[in-house]
Amino acid sequence: MSVDEADSNEKITYKIILIGDSSVGKTCLFKKITTGDYFDKNISTIGMDRKSFQLNIPVMDNGTKRERNFEIQLWDTAGQERFRSITTGYYKGSQGLFLLYDITNIETFENLDKWISGVRDSLGSNEKGDKYIIILLGNKLDIVKEHPEMRRVNTADAERKCKENDIIWGGECSVKDFTKEELEEKFKGYTEEIYKRIGFRVVKSQVIKQIGPIKKKEGCAC
Ligand code: GDP
Ligand code: MG
Repeated sequence: MSVDEADSNEKITYKIILIGDSSVGKTCLFKKITTGDYFDKNISTIGMDRKSFQLNIPVMDNGTKRERNFEIQLWDTAGQERFRSITTGYYKGSQGLFLLYDITNIETFENLDKWISGVRDSLGSNEKGDKYIIILLGNKLDIVKEHPEMRRVNTADAERKCKENDIIWGGECSVKDFTKEELEEKFKGYTEEIYKRIGFRVVKSQVIKQIGPIKKKEGCAC
């Protein structure tokens, strides 16, 4: 559906998934944005989690700025990234893929190529117009603010990686230090970017609740 065809009052739903190496901060981000809480240790879950929340964002529709209501269905993998076993079922139907790395851990940056090709293999190349967007986020900024010598990934290298792979640079952040409201502001910017690039789908009467953790089925991440 194009932006023109849409009823401007209808809710727009996006599936957004968190990907990236183990321990980059995906679950902390998931928890902070959905509950406001931060946990200073690894939280392990089997399978995956998903939770929905609403964002009201002013967007441009046919040259007019108006506030629209977005429902973000956020998905977090748990544990599977260790085994590189995330399957197409997890990626399927997502409009936004937030790819995280740890700016104090070079390996998590070097592995980005594998993540990007995993997404392209599952969702296609985006050549004929964007169906989904990948947004790159560098996490754990608080550590390098206190100890600059612990930085292992330069911002310029991350920006270059985005240009080379046609993905969006979401910036550096600290899930630990950022408040829920600050993270929401970031999410609003990313959601607006998805809206600009790929439009939307409207889910009318579907009630989406938090589920999970879901037990992992063999050969299927869904
Ligand atoms: P996941 O495996 O990607 O889900 O990573 P987690 O969310 O479980 O986080 C792994 C570890 O990194 C935990 O010990 C977190 O407390 C820590 N962590 C996550 N985000 C940050 C951050 O912004 N700053 C710092 N210093 N530690 C973080
Ligand atoms: Mg996790």
